[in-house]
Amino acid sequence: MEGMETVKTWMARQLPGCADVTRTVSDSLDAPQGFRKWVGVRLHMLICEVCSRYEKQLKFIRKLLGRELPAESLPPEKKEQMRSAIRHGKS
Ligand SMILES: [Zn+2]
Repeated sequence: MEGMETVKTWMARQLPGCADVTRTVSDSLDAPQGFRKWVGVRLHMLICEVCSRYEKQLKFIRKLLGRELPAESLPPEKKEQMRSAIRHGKS
């Protein structure tokens, strides 16, 4: 599908990059982000598997931390380990 490739390439140029998207995604878990940002992120996810996987992992871990493991029960070095595990996957 050559036409589709062109659209993807065009979109990739209009949209925020992976670094922006992953930052917005993790910020959005703490505070709602603006609508324009959100649209950019959603569109980016359509064409970028890495970022959509990152979002899923992040939400999954957040859910685990929030519901099953109270965050305080985790030693700080464990949290840091998880954070760097997530970061590692995206770049
Ligand atoms: Zn991306």
